[in-house]
Amino acid sequence: MPVWTTLLVGKSIARLSRLSGRGGGQALPGLVAEQLDPKLLRKISQKFPQGIVLVTGTNGKTTTAKLLASMLEKKGWRVLTNSTGSNLKRGIVSAVIDGASISGNLPFDAAVFEVDEATLRLVAGLLQPKYIVVLNLFRDQLDRYGELDTTAALIGEGIGQTESTLCLNADDPLVASLVKYAAKPEQTMYFGVGQSVDHRPSLITATDSDRCPICHELLQFPRVWFGHIGHYKCHNCGYKRPKPGVEITSISEMTTQSSRLEMRLMGAKLTVNFQLPGIYNVYNAAAASAVATLWGLIC
Ligand SMILES: [Zn+2]
Repeated sequence: MPVWTTLLVGKSIARLSRLSGRGGGQALPGLVAEQLDPKLLRKISQKFPQGIVLVTGTNGKTTTAKLLASMLEKKGWRVLTNSTGSNLKRGIVSAVIDGASISGNLPFDAAVFEVDEATLRLVAGLLQPKYIVVLNLFRDQLDRYGELDTTAALIGEGIGQTESTLCLNADDPLVASLVKYAAKPEQTMYFGVGQSVDHRPSLITATDSDRCPICHELLQFPRVWFGHIGHYKCHNCGYKRPKPGVEITSISEMTTQSSRLEMRLMGAKLTVNFQLPGIYNVYNAAAASAVATLWGLIC
């Protein structure tokens, strides 16, 4: 079935379901479109001239995807996101249907989709994203999938189906270790918060990821920003925080509404204001900036 036919059928169902007052037409069009054409996502994967980015991890997916989309839009790109729907497979299909024009075209330069950690392996192979971003892996919200290692392996399975360049949090030991699944590990872009940032460090939380992902010995953490996010090293096997290509070198201002950050991006220095408070969002800003840097839009 041609892509435009599936998209138009999906759009009609969305309209009908809106008219009949059955919710916002989010889930049903995606489900029907998937039934009509299970290869829909594979077929649309080539329709974005600049490519697709998938953003996953326990916390910060929505914020990071929004930040990145707005950075791309400021450069004049038209960007499709799944910000109003779910981050499961049907939510991405629904976003594609919603974004399609009445003639079944997708008038976008790029797509930025946030993806649930266990869903990545169901969509990555089909979408063949240019970049995959992994933000962090926390245990507290992961009861639905079991152990952190299991979730990391699920994400790894998704990465393994692609040729994507990875964008990984250098300061999360388990996330940084996902490089082993990359088709082109040498192209991986890490992001993190640097040594000189003046921020009150916290103690590592016992329930978090404090074991070496390679040899399972306890990691040493000279610096911790929150949870298990910080600078680490394994004294048993030598595994350590990789050097980030995009690093926050200073947080010169942090109010309840915004942050002023100094960043080093592949050697270039930049000062940026983000309308988001808190150290969590510093990482989201670093992740979005890392992808924009990979795309050649910042420096
Ligand atoms: Zn180790």
